Amino acid sequence: MDDKQRRLARTDRHAPSSNDCIAALRSALGADRVLTGTDIPARNMQDACHYPPTRPLALLLPRSTTEVSEALRLCCAHGQPVAVQGGLTGMAGGAHPEAGEIALSLEKMVGIEEIDPLSGTLTALAGTPLATIQEAAKEAGLLCGIDLGARGSCSIGGNVATNAGGNQVVRYGMTRKNVLGLEAVLADGTIVRSLNKMIKNNAGYDWTQLFIGSEGTLGIVTRVVLGLHPQPGKVSTALVAVDAFADCIALLRFIDRALPGRILVFEAMWADFMAVAMERIGLAPPFTRTYGIILLIEVMVADDALEQVLAETYERGIARDALVAQSGGDQKKFWKFRESIYEYGRFFPHLIGFDIAIPLDRMEEAVAAMRKELTTRFPHRVVVFFGHVADSNLHIVVAAKNSDDSDKDEIERAIYNMTQAFGGSVSAEHGIGRSKRPYLALSRDVNELDLMRRLKAALDPAGILNPGRIL
Ligand SMILES: Cc1cc2nc3c(=O)[nH]c(=O)nc-3n(C[C@H](O)[C@H](O)[C@H](O)COP(=O)(O)OP(=O)(O)OC[C@H]3O[C@@H](n4cnc5c(N)ncnc54)[C@H](O)[C@@H]3O)c2cc1C
Repeated sequence: MDDKQRRLARTDRHAPSSNDCIAALRSALGADRVLTGTDIPARNMQDACHYPPTRPLALLLPRSTTEVSEALRLCCAHGQPVAVQGGLTGMAGGAHPEAGEIALSLEKMVGIEEIDPLSGTLTALAGTPLATIQEAAKEAGLLCGIDLGARGSCSIGGNVATNAGGNQVVRYGMTRKNVLGLEAVLADGTIVRSLNKMIKNNAGYDWTQLFIGSEGTLGIVTRVVLGLHPQPGKVSTALVAVDAFADCIALLRFIDRALPGRILVFEAMWADFMAVAMERIGLAPPFTRTYGIILLIEVMVADDALEQVLAETYERGIARDALVAQSGGDQKKFWKFRESIYEYGRFFPHLIGFDIAIPLDRMEEAVAAMRKELTTRFPHRVVVFFGHVADSNLHIVVAAKNSDDSDKDEIERAIYNMTQAFGGSVSAEHGIGRSKRPYLALSRDVNELDLMRRLKAALDPAGILNPGRIL
């Protein structure tokens, strides 16, 4: 028996109360909603954090809010811990089941219930994939403001639970800014519903906000009302070369003044990131020489309008070079640089990904200090910097050239301690989950943590929902 088999076998042994709980769940929901043992698909044993696969005690597949409510009522009564699962693309280990937990997946709660063109809203069940929502909004002549690389697999409930950000936050904000209403089930099975479609609604506490970004620790999101946006019309895409981070921000502010509210995407890729894209992934160099940072930008204007603004930034010494896409093929080619990060798994045996936020006024200094620390102390690692920098979001990937991953904890400690020193946040968008829990106190003070604990205790006194995540 290898390690993985031993781990799976260990998690198959149920405590007597767990057996009672599973029997009660089967009788309440029906056997087809409660899978156990080898009936549990491998995909439900891990998320994108890639902890070793763990088979949960059972996998619950409710089809309705009432079934989620009944499942939680029974789990709560038995003190049974529950791991909440959406599309399983989370990078913080929040949906990864632990030994002794029952996984509850929203994957069968899929569907768009309403698109209201007058209110400009869309109501969907929480398990609906983001891409399905984007397509439905588009067909109705509108746009969903949430977009991220995992769009085909992640669920809207997971997006809400993680307050996901992504490529267009600079224009439409994080998920929080796009949510108007929610339905959720509390740990004891209580259903709370505010399928609000109005922009203004100050009738008491807006409790829905509590659930956005709570990573499944306060309740299970079952329905979401999103505010949609007008479609952007013509979008122009460019790669722009600058020397330093201060020029990125000068460029951002210049374009925003010239074309107010039109910037859709503003992604920075430092020279180390571009080097891997060209040398390892094999993309053709976009410019004849190397620059400090290449920006991938999308602006909601015609190509010539963007060309004109970029020409002005060139004359002012902000942009050093620029390419504006002349076709859909060019646009795809430009995006390939940013998306080259998804190919790293083919070239490096181990990757450590960081999703931190750094105040813009410290970003240049922070990147320089972190690069120096990593390249000096861990010379066998490849280090790349990139990110949604208009939102202060910096991604770092520290890749191993060989199979030695023993310095992972040391690298994490170094980066998170430096993040704190620069006044940043240990999570810009992926959340804390299980993987960043030891570092949460670097970004939140004692009173903030105490408030979080009090909220958790008030909403989930038995501590059954996603235990060990965030707190
Ligand atoms: C290729 C790729 C690109 C990505 N890009 C981005 C990006 O640009 N920006 C970004 O923010 N993230 C990004 N992510 C991370 C991830 O896609 C997001 O965190 C996403 O919102 C997770 O949704 P999910 O449905 O997969 O949730 P899961 O992974 O299933 O769960 C994530 C967390 O939410 C909880 N949860 C899930 N569903 C519910 C629910 N209905 N109610 C309550 N809690 C729930 C889980 O318990 C867990 O704690 C990326 C991931 C990948 C693999």
